Amino acid sequence: HLIQEEVNFKAVVQNIYKDVKDIEDKGELASYIPELARIDSKNFGVHISTMDHSNFGVGNCYDKFSIQSIAKVLSLIMAYKILGKKIWERVDVEPSGNAFNSLVQLEAENGIPRNPFINAGALVISDILLSELEHPKEEFLAFVRDIANQPEIDYSSKIAASEKKVGYRNIALCNYIKSLGNIKNEPEDVLDFYFNLCSLEMNCMELSQLFLFLANNGCRISDQHPILTEQQSKRINALMQTCGFYDESGEFAFRVGLPGKSGVGGGIVAVHPDRYAIAVWSPKLNKKGNSYKGMKFLEAFTTESKQSIF
Ligand code: GLU
Repeated sequence: HLIQEEVNFKAVVQNIYKDVKDIEDKGELASYIPELARIDSKNFGVHISTMDHSNFGVGNCYDKFSIQSIAKVLSLIMAYKILGKKIWERVDVEPSGNAFNSLVQLEAENGIPRNPFINAGALVISDILLSELEHPKEEFLAFVRDIANQPEIDYSSKIAASEKKVGYRNIALCNYIKSLGNIKNEPEDVLDFYFNLCSLEMNCMELSQLFLFLANNGCRISDQHPILTEQQSKRINALMQTCGFYDESGEFAFRVGLPGKSGVGGGIVAVHPDRYAIAVWSPKLNKKGNSYKGMKFLEAFTTESKQSIF
């Protein structure tokens, strides 16, 4: 896996960063969550962690931001570890082709969300964790800190409260799934867990290091501890590939060619199995909710480094 010999990641990252930094940002901040609309839109950071233990970052790569939907990968992983393949009875594994907060497919599909990364799916996963854990918020946070080897990772109570205040659509979604029988706990508790989950704050360095285990067949790099089995890790990567970018997952595969997950805080994390994990943060989003500059950066990165899975 000595890819560092094949590709000078540092130079490629540095050059593309310089180019993309100067392009006009045609995105918009996620203003539907008031606290996210206050972020300085000029923030731009990138960090890469490779399987041969090199780490490199530029720009605002050490500044924490709201990882939002990227956290849905982590809650899925925890629930998957607990339930095993029974989890797929509660949530499907198909791309939705609809917006992340869409309600339209649920009725026809008996409250089984299309996949665990749209909001409906992440609410069902939150419900599972609520049923399975004694202290869900604390245990989930401990789980994330443990995979990342970063005891300081935390929720942002400010972001969670801000989203809760205006979370009309997620509240509707949760109640709707409850009425269809696929939420077992009180919607209020599920939503509280969900808003906290989305409020997790991390920086690009922490994200790229955390997600590297998905490039390593499910084993944490520092000590080869298995977080997931090889088969489970393959499945999480497959879901990120097909469903990680809202209704732009096809476009992301087409332009970038990596499994990954984005969030409306402007973060994107992507994984090249056996090679590396990379995280990008730039808060302004394109019309589908993905970081405008993040997409541009990653497209240029996999093209110039010739390191996409295709
Ligand atoms: N907390 C956000 C919401 O539910 C997450 C959206 C996202 O990052 O896709 O609207």
